[in-house]
Amino acid sequence: NTFAEIDLGEALNLNIRRCKYVKPTPVQRHAIPISLGGRDLMACAQTGSGKTAAFCFPIISGIMRGQFGQRAPRMPRTACPLALILSPTRELSCQIHEEARKFAYQTGVKVVVAYGGAPINQQLRELERGVDILVATPGRLVDLLERARVSLQSIRYLALDEADRMLDMGFEPQIRKIVQQMDMPPPGVRQTMLFSATFPKEIQRLASDFLANYIFLAV
Ligand code: AMP
Repeated sequence: NTFAEIDLGEALNLNIRRCKYVKPTPVQRHAIPISLGGRDLMACAQTGSGKTAAFCFPIISGIMRGQFGQRAPRMPRTACPLALILSPTRELSCQIHEEARKFAYQTGVKVVVAYGGAPINQQLRELERGVDILVATPGRLVDLLERARVSLQSIRYLALDEADRMLDMGFEPQIRKIVQQMDMPPPGVRQTMLFSATFPKEIQRLASDFLANYIFLAV
């Protein structure tokens, strides 16, 4: 079982080889086919399990092949990403951004990161240059939504990383506000992946509110 046997698209498969990934980790082996098959996913996965690639590969592959049409924003300075990756901290967001950029190299898929505790202007300029995958912390994303600099109307893929940590940090209201903005017709167009190290009641509630007919994966 190797990545060469999984058809993720030529450019992505090449980048995976460049990263010297040969064999999928257990979470990747199970999560990637589930996501490529279009199902929602709730995965219990720890740091170091390879979960970043587990959610990045299906997203990048899907955008590379996707027929998502024109995404003309209603307002010219509003970014309309196709995928959103939410993570609890600046450090984790930057790490995901760095990895995702390597995976997306020469695929035409643009990845931008936005996090709090840093000036917003540079992030606004990046967003204006175009974004397919937005990696963000919840607070900064709410700020961008309130400024109408990001619209979530085009989101086809949503990944929540370290969801338990986001709830521990008090981000549940922001996360709910963010997901509410994606709930537009037609239903069923959004694919959602929820990753968490633990699976307490609060996470189960998020899963049942945000995911549709999902597969539960514990590795
Ligand atoms: P993560 O759990 O996503 O933070 O990944 C932990 C580390 O494992 C990172 O340094 C990844 O680059 C690396 N990694 C993830 N998947 C693989 C793989 N299939 N083969 C080799 N290294 C990997």
